[in-house]
Amino acid sequence: MRLWSREIWRLVWPSAVGVLLGALLGVPGLGLAVGLSVCLGFHLYQLRALYHWLTRAPQEEPPAAPGLWGELFDRLYRYQKSQRLTQNRLRATLARIQESSEAMRDSVVMLDRHGDLEWWNSAAAQMLGLKVELDRGQHITNFLRDPRFVSYFNARDYSEPLTLPSPIDERRILQYQITLYGDDERLVMARDITRLHRLEQMRRDFVANVSHELRTPLTVLSGYLETYADLAEQLPPRLGRGIEQMQAQTTRMQNLVNDLLLLSRLEIDQGGEDHQPIDVAALLAKVRDDALALSKGQHAIEVEVESDAALIGSEQELRSAVSNLAFNAVRYTPPGSQITLRWQASEQGACLAVEDDGEGIDPVHIPRLTERFYRVDKGRSTATGGTGLGLAIVKHVLLRHDGKLTIDSRPGEGARFRCVFPQERLAGFE
Ligand code: ADP
Repeated sequence: MRLWSREIWRLVWPSAVGVLLGALLGVPGLGLAVGLSVCLGFHLYQLRALYHWLTRAPQEEPPAAPGLWGELFDRLYRYQKSQRLTQNRLRATLARIQESSEAMRDSVVMLDRHGDLEWWNSAAAQMLGLKVELDRGQHITNFLRDPRFVSYFNARDYSEPLTLPSPIDERRILQYQITLYGDDERLVMARDITRLHRLEQMRRDFVANVSHELRTPLTVLSGYLETYADLAEQLPPRLGRGIEQMQAQTTRMQNLVNDLLLLSRLEIDQGGEDHQPIDVAALLAKVRDDALALSKGQHAIEVEVESDAALIGSEQELRSAVSNLAFNAVRYTPPGSQITLRWQASEQGACLAVEDDGEGIDPVHIPRLTERFYRVDKGRSTATGGTGLGLAIVKHVLLRHDGKLTIDSRPGEGARFRCVFPQERLAGFE
């Protein structure tokens, strides 16, 4: 406020002096005009000094000026200084971030809200074939044209990563993970997992080969054991019991080998070649017959078909999945239990369910049930002829049919295994 009153005084007194001198000479109006011109001249001079300072060397100390102008110069200088400091700090942070992203062996690509390229590190340039500057502003799908990437990118569900061959070298396998941030911008990270992929392939091939190689010796063993079993009466009783046990264990090993081979095939094949509309009612009727045979009529097994829509997929694979669920229901429920095989379809999708009113499963086990060889009660599973691979097979079959397995169960309240399929998997649904 003091600055302001001083500034007003700076205007008033030259005007007053001008008027007084003008009055003495008989021209007070001219005196006032001269006084005001002096004030205007002073302000124009300071304005010029400000202009020169800002246009020529704003980082240098401001020119000295009295009163309000001096304060204005000082504040502008301080403001500029703090802005410069903030800018430098931001620049240093940005440089550090870019440097660390540069040092990363994984690709990092920043996209704007339209999906156009904004920035990428040199790993991305190598892995995805992006050229510095030249490709800036282009859409990501101009480089990653694989339809699987395009639909993953557009679906905007990035909870799972996507694995694909590199766009510039088919032999390299990349895993993409997209993160949404800021104003709908996206960060695409790509990692070279060729080595991991090869190891995984080796593991699968190894399991498949071992299982395959074990088949022939097991067939020979079980053939001879069958012959010996036929001659059991001529053998001493101790040997007879041994042969029975050997037969049971051979069958168990054969089941294990068959399940391992099936799992390997499900993992290795891409799937989708033999997909056709399946009559679900007929499929469930066959599974029911097989389950009744396993149960030896000790369980009540019902089929409830609530839709005549067909399911598109591989009949052999789906039969194996539903059979596994139905056989489990027979094996893990006491005689007299009720088992229901259900087929439902709606606008939202379809559901193939196997329900029982047996002892149920403790919820702590449910998330791990589809792991290979995970059993709630190992002894019981082995005694009932389980291989520990049943639910893993179900999970893989469903993956190949865009489906999901959900398990609802509580101890003492039975279990419900639901295979849920999207609507696109239905044919003839009204
Ligand atoms: P297994 O060959 O041991 O049956 P699965 O993968 O088919 O292997 O099943 C894993 C485990 O899940 C089983 O060991 C069993 O404890 C449990 N389970 C599966 N189905 C049922 C069911 N209907 N009721 C209770 N427990 C079940």
